[in-house]
Amino acid sequence: MPPIPPEALREKIKQRLSFYEDLGLAPFYCTRSAFVGASRIGGTAPQLGTQMSTQMPAPKSTAKTSNSQTTPIPTPPMPTTSPSFTPSTNPLDPFPTTLQKNSNFFDQLERVENDSLLKIRDDIGDCTRCRLHKTRHHIVFADGNPKAQLVFVGEGPGADEDATGIPFVGRAGKLLTQMIQAMGLQREDVYICNVVKCRPPENRQPQPDEVATCGPYLVRQLEVVNPKVIVCLGATAAQTLLETTTGISKFRGQWQDFRGKKLLATYHPAYLLRNPAAKSEVWKDLQKVMAELGLELKKSKSS
Ligand code: SF4
Repeated sequence: MPPIPPEALREKIKQRLSFYEDLGLAPFYCTRSAFVGASRIGGTAPQLGTQMSTQMPAPKSTAKTSNSQTTPIPTPPMPTTSPSFTPSTNPLDPFPTTLQKNSNFFDQLERVENDSLLKIRDDIGDCTRCRLHKTRHHIVFADGNPKAQLVFVGEGPGADEDATGIPFVGRAGKLLTQMIQAMGLQREDVYICNVVKCRPPENRQPQPDEVATCGPYLVRQLEVVNPKVIVCLGATAAQTLLETTTGISKFRGQWQDFRGKKLLATYHPAYLLRNPAAKSEVWKDLQKVMAELGLELKKSKSS
């Protein structure tokens, strides 16, 4: 039998994976991919069904432990010869998805002259621009390093965040902190914010008009912090910034562009609390982010 040309083979695998996804078997294949991906950058593959804290390797011994709010992510070893992301050659990695744009609103937002986080917070003030102000206790602006190279964007505050004014401090927040530490970083090294700054009642999804009203503040935050990588946690953050209705499962773990910055969508920690098996997929995504930032996995003692 003649050998199958590479393009035909890729198409065949793509169709097969799509078929498995339709059957609900995608996590099994993504997990296999996660193992391949982990070994590719010298890491230890996470195990299904374990907690994030045991699933992810310990941070590098050189990781920052300071409580300073202004400590930046360690600079190089950043790639200097190849500024653009090199796609994986692993045939089981997701194929790049062309997103269906439903708006260009954020793309077209003009940059604010001499903008700063302080100015953005001042502009928000005691905001009553959307109905979410009626039930909130605190506006949840952001947390972390204002000069971070890595920004995490979530959907909106929950009850704990609404009570404290700090994003990601509840159960999902603790899991996010573990994820950050597994990358060899501390919470203080990254910047954490949300699409909407006030808690939607009963933790419902923010509605489109609420997102449209509050979203420009998020865009300004991202412009001012100017990170190297933006990680969207969950569908709302990803679909908002990418202005798409394409389901997150179609582009999770793939590099996308947001106003000239690299953006990668992964699952929300709250989803991981309900679906621990998806942690391995998220860890695979975070490994891509680590590679982009030049962060190294700590090798296991046995390797
Ligand atoms: S969610 Fe945003 S726009 Fe709505 S009231 Fe809160 S700060 Fe204002």
